[in-house]
Amino acid sequence: MLKNSPYLTWIKDRNGVYVDVNDKFLEFFDKTYDEVIGKTDYAIMPKDFAKEIIDQDNDVMKNNKMNTYEDTHILNKNKLGYLQSTKWPLSEDDNNIILGTIGIAIEITNKVEMFKSMEKNEKIFLEIANNIEEAIIIIDEKKAQYISPSFKKMFDVNPDELYNDISSWRENGNKVVYENYPKPYDFKGINDFMFKLYQKGREEMWIWGRFVPILDEEGNTIKKIGILSDITERKTLESELEKLRMDFFANLSHELRTPINLIISALQVLGLRMDNLDDEDFEYFEKYFKIINQNSNRLLKLVNNLIDTTKLDSGCFSYNPKNNDIVSCIEDICLSVSGFIEDNNLSIIFDTDTEEKIIGFDLDKMERIVLNLLSNALKFNEKGKTIQVTIKNYKNSIKISVKDEGIGIPKHDLHKIFDRFKQVKHKSVNSKVGSGIGLSLVKSLVELHKGSIEVKSVLGEGSEFIISIPNKLYNNKLELIDETILKEKFVQKIDVEFSDIYA
Ligand code: ADP
Repeated sequence: MLKNSPYLTWIKDRNGVYVDVNDKFLEFFDKTYDEVIGKTDYAIMPKDFAKEIIDQDNDVMKNNKMNTYEDTHILNKNKLGYLQSTKWPLSEDDNNIILGTIGIAIEITNKVEMFKSMEKNEKIFLEIANNIEEAIIIIDEKKAQYISPSFKKMFDVNPDELYNDISSWRENGNKVVYENYPKPYDFKGINDFMFKLYQKGREEMWIWGRFVPILDEEGNTIKKIGILSDITERKTLESELEKLRMDFFANLSHELRTPINLIISALQVLGLRMDNLDDEDFEYFEKYFKIINQNSNRLLKLVNNLIDTTKLDSGCFSYNPKNNDIVSCIEDICLSVSGFIEDNNLSIIFDTDTEEKIIGFDLDKMERIVLNLLSNALKFNEKGKTIQVTIKNYKNSIKISVKDEGIGIPKHDLHKIFDRFKQVKHKSVNSKVGSGIGLSLVKSLVELHKGSIEVKSVLGEGSEFIISIPNKLYNNKLELIDETILKEKFVQKIDVEFSDIYA
């Protein structure tokens, strides 16, 4: 039975001489049967090793008791092999005289090597963890199991407390403000986050962190290893850069806007004298007057859009919602541009399912949203077609749709058009230019109202832009605004927003 077992087995006499061994034994020591039988361990292995094994056998016989050992063996080519062996005395049944020993062993080389490599990896890990600036922590669901020295430095904590309860460092007046924290925290997945840390008596810090699961053989998360990095310096630099960029744009806007406005004002003054010209001159001057005027407005539109985009990016955009009638606001815009639209051989239809609807919105921004959409509807339309503006009143939202019967947008471009600087290549409309900022600005402005925008379009049939804003009063109180002041500026706004039509 022993001979056929999958383990190494052997029988030795009282003097440690091998009486019998199985094939597994011969395979492990790479010997033939004859090289082993009738010999002692000194014939099979180096002296020191053999002595140790023989001492074990003697112990087993002396104590007349089974025992288990773990042995290292030097095998061929200096390879190390490991055995876990159990030996027991072999005695005659009736008189208890000990005849020798029987041994059975299982090879544990793989297991031992695995432990050794784990130990080595652990050493490397500790070497890294102890010497990098990033903080490393290994946690189970509640407690910390390893905390690197940098962690202690970064969070100024007593590690003993952490080993009991990992959230304890937040006490002692420390405050954490997360920029993006995975909610709900997923112990099983990878979590990235960034937070601002306020600790008593210390400067505020920005920390970036990532927790990665450590899995067991079945793929279950048993621990998590977290790496946290102090990114305060990077953040400070970023905000300084951002400030520089903003300052640059603020200066640039001023520098650009002022001369453009001066050109426009000068043109207006010139325009007052145009009536004094004779017919021939009037026609001549008017032609170039229009070109200068329209292109100045185009420049102004571009500069305005650029400035606004920068402001939106940095969160400096002012948003002043007031409670006002959205229906009359949209209708007024449509009326004001209807002349312009008709001049371009198109018509505009305004339709609403409510006479009046007071909600909170920023009138100035709403005008820009609608004017932008109308200018596109005009720009990408064809002569003789119609632009339809519709308002629909829903329980939670107001939907404003601007629909044209123009060239439409290819399906694969639909998701791109709200991206900044994205323009769709339309074969037929190369003379009507723009900057590709309009829709991205519109989207941001709608989002400023906590609303959303969507587009439906069929190539060759037309496009419909639908914006949806919350059906809600601002501050929940009614405080209507004075519209007369706003109307005056509106004509100039139309000229600017529509300036890229008919270059
Ligand atoms: P632009 O200044 O180029 O008009 P927008 O951001 O306003 O920039 O629009 C981006 C692109 O989306 C346009 O270049 C155009 O290709 C497409 N687009 C916008 N509105 C319409 C529309 N009503 N019909 C067809 N294409 C449109």
